Amino acid sequence: MLTKYVNHWERNKPPRENPVTHNKRLGPAWQEVSKKLKHIPSLIQEQNQREKILREKIDLGKAQCIELREGANRMLEKERQVQAQLQEWEAERETLKSTLATLRTFQDTHYSSAMEIAESMSKLEKEREVQALTIIREQPGTLGNSADGLGLLKLSSVMHLANISQGAIQKMRHLNGNDFLHSIDESTLRHSCHIDSWQDRKDILYLQSMLSQGLFPYADHEKQCVVCACQTPDELARLAHEENLKMDSTVLKEWKINGRRALMIKRADIADVFFLAEDTAKQFFAAIISLQQIHNSAKTI
Ligand SMILES: [Zn+2]
Repeated sequence: MLTKYVNHWERNKPPRENPVTHNKRLGPAWQEVSKKLKHIPSLIQEQNQREKILREKIDLGKAQCIELREGANRMLEKERQVQAQLQEWEAERETLKSTLATLRTFQDTHYSSAMEIAESMSKLEKEREVQALTIIREQPGTLGNSADGLGLLKLSSVMHLANISQGAIQKMRHLNGNDFLHSIDESTLRHSCHIDSWQDRKDILYLQSMLSQGLFPYADHEKQCVVCACQTPDELARLAHEENLKMDSTVLKEWKINGRRALMIKRADIADVFFLAEDTAKQFFAAIISLQQIHNSAKTI
């Protein structure tokens, strides 16, 4: 093998001047062998160099192959992701097309008639609401009770609108509008209807008073009346302070007295419920009278 390389190298090497100038003491055949042996070290060096270059090229080529394979794998993964996304979009588009077709069919066939029905129902509801409010304002005595049958506007519905407690509404379900307006006072509420809550009784008496004067719902009157507009004991205490009225704010808070309930307070409440000392009681009742005057003047506006 080595000989083959040496011969090959010998044939291709550049010619040298006076190649046989050394070892003149050797015979011609040995001179030939010596000449060849002399070139072996440089041949090894040259082949080593070549082998090194090839090794580097091979390493580089392998690295490039790995890099290309990784790049190809990344591209394949990206393609898989895009394919999956495409499938999702296509499925969504199909569902959308089907929904759109249903909507178009509905629009072509039923939309206008459905809108007409909705409009007429809405108009009917509005008319009924106006009718109901007219009855409540002008003929509250015709309000029915739960045993009156269907179709009648019930007193219980009106009490519900007035935020009367559900327990109290239940205890008064046998009453109709006429009973409510003419047969109810603090004593019957307490002893016949068994409404134990002082606040419930005052709310009911306030509703009775406002219904009988055509002032329900309360919203319009509240815009005019600073007393009825007081929804909490704190608001009432502020109003009393502004009007220079002597009302113990502790009593207002303890008995949860707002503007409406204050208007329904009787002299007996101050003595028997609040247990105020005589002087304080007098001032408190004077304040109630002043509040009622403010309330009454607001009604005439
Ligand atoms: Zn008022």
